[in-house]
Amino acid sequence: MKEHFDIAVVGSGFGGSLLAMIARQLGLSVILLERGRHPRMAIGESSTPLSNLLLDELANRYGLANIRPLSKWKSWRTSHPELACGLKRGFTFLHHGPGHMGPVQRDNQLLVAASPHNGIADTHWYRADFDAYLVNEARRMGVAYLDQVDLSRFSEAGQEIRMHGRSTESEVEITARFVVDATGPRGFLHRALGLGERELQGMLATAGLYSHFSGVRRLDETGGVALDSEPPYPVDDAAVHHLFQGGWVWVLHFCNGLTSAGIAATNLLAEELQLAEGKPAWTRVLQRIPVLEEQFRDANAIQPFQHIPRLGFCSAEVAGMNWALLPSAAGFVDPLLSTGFPLTLLGVARLAEILERDWNTERLAFRLQEYAQATEGELLATARLIGALYANLGNFPVFSAVSLLYFAAVSYAETARRLGQPQLAPSFLLHDHPRFGADCARVLERARTADSDRDSSMLLDEIHRVIEPFDVAGLSDPTRRNWYPVDAGDLLSAAHKIGVGRDEVMEMLERCGFNASAISQI
Ligand SMILES: Cc1cc2nc3c(=O)[nH]c(=O)nc-3n(C[C@H](O)[C@H](O)[C@H](O)COP(=O)(O)OP(=O)(O)OC[C@H]3O[C@@H](n4cnc5c(N)ncnc54)[C@H](O)[C@@H]3O)c2cc1C
Repeated sequence: MKEHFDIAVVGSGFGGSLLAMIARQLGLSVILLERGRHPRMAIGESSTPLSNLLLDELANRYGLANIRPLSKWKSWRTSHPELACGLKRGFTFLHHGPGHMGPVQRDNQLLVAASPHNGIADTHWYRADFDAYLVNEARRMGVAYLDQVDLSRFSEAGQEIRMHGRSTESEVEITARFVVDATGPRGFLHRALGLGERELQGMLATAGLYSHFSGVRRLDETGGVALDSEPPYPVDDAAVHHLFQGGWVWVLHFCNGLTSAGIAATNLLAEELQLAEGKPAWTRVLQRIPVLEEQFRDANAIQPFQHIPRLGFCSAEVAGMNWALLPSAAGFVDPLLSTGFPLTLLGVARLAEILERDWNTERLAFRLQEYAQATEGELLATARLIGALYANLGNFPVFSAVSLLYFAAVSYAETARRLGQPQLAPSFLLHDHPRFGADCARVLERARTADSDRDSSMLLDEIHRVIEPFDVAGLSDPTRRNWYPVDAGDLLSAAHKIGVGRDEVMEMLERCGFNASAISQI
């Protein structure tokens, strides 16, 4: 096989397939190359309001009508009941102190709702189904697709890239004007071009172990969480984070009866637990956290355990004259807070805009360097945030306050975009916002190094001062005692922070599917 394309996308996870579809919609010839074969398990499953908004925006802008329903729970389940997903109403954090027995009490809970009701809730993407669907959509739209291909050589010849490899049947030679690497961390181009690594400053080295399970019970069945009143959403319909010194465990339930679960841990804890051993290590993890042990009492791993000895990664280069890494190939910090999808989708949106506006202009090289800088800046900002959270896994009040910096930044960005003001929040975590970005970096550094109760209490005050001018979600309200519902009243009273009137917020709430009765009560 020997063929020429405008664009070759290597890697057919959701990131690669989306970019391939968009490039095709822009009239370019595209080939999508995959090492494996769909359907296949992939990790990275929990979406967020910002990632679903970005997916929706991409679907609207580039005419991907069949993708749009996948940006919300109800429209997904209605239009594609055959594709499994999970209901994600929020982020549940449960802190487990050393030797703690019994249900997790209110002062060790942080519940941040992401949606007011199931209809417009987020989802956990069951990637075997989701990614296979996207590849089929790409093919239907005219993207050439080759799977089980092992690319071995990459060379630049003038204006062209040449890639050689083998598929199951034959030798493959692809030439393309531009290559997008969507193969994940330490992926194809990183190795083929010897791009080198840079440090994720502020982040510790961490490792991961995970699988998919059947037979996992819900916390509301096992009584693992003590609820003193009606929580903002059912605690299990969420990305559930179990936190403890040195690491954390995620639990995500899918509607097909399966559950994704795994641990991310500092190298110190990973070694202590001997994560490389797989299943026995998982048993040791459960034995440390009685609430989890009860939940997984009758569970069975239905996939071999996957061990990732080094989760963190940052490529030293992100784009060249005729190639670019998607953010997911340029780097990764940690699964904590589900930052992978929004970073990937922001990158897809930026590359799509470059293809749309600058494909045949002299500005292409310049725009690609802008893309590289934006990608790198967002990864490093994510590392600062996650590094500060890891430093406080044993100090739940500080952990909760630091995580509110994340929730403040993303809910502000989401609201600004929904109100047609994306320029207010052009970067992930508002990291290059002249006020929030600098203040946030400063308090994160303090959170990483704070080592006394006095430091902690001053830090909490400072974090609340940083958040307040950007808080559109009631995060600064101490009477909520770490349970934050999605409340239309919070958005309305924060309208001035986005520079709009209450009427515009009202109109936005109705458009976004808030219950009319909830709005009329305000
Ligand atoms: C343990 C863990 C948990 C995570 N959890 C979350 C989460 O809950 N939420 C979140 O937002 N993010 C999460 N992430 C990050 C998330 O996985 C990524 O952001 C996301 O998968 C990126 O999608 P992608 O399609 O760009 O790449 P990938 O999903 O990495 O897909 C890469 C594709 O490229 C193919 N490929 C690889 N090498 C080659 C090659 N040489 N040639 C051809 N094809 C190749 C692979 O087979 C695969 O199909 C997690 C990451 C990890 C490691």
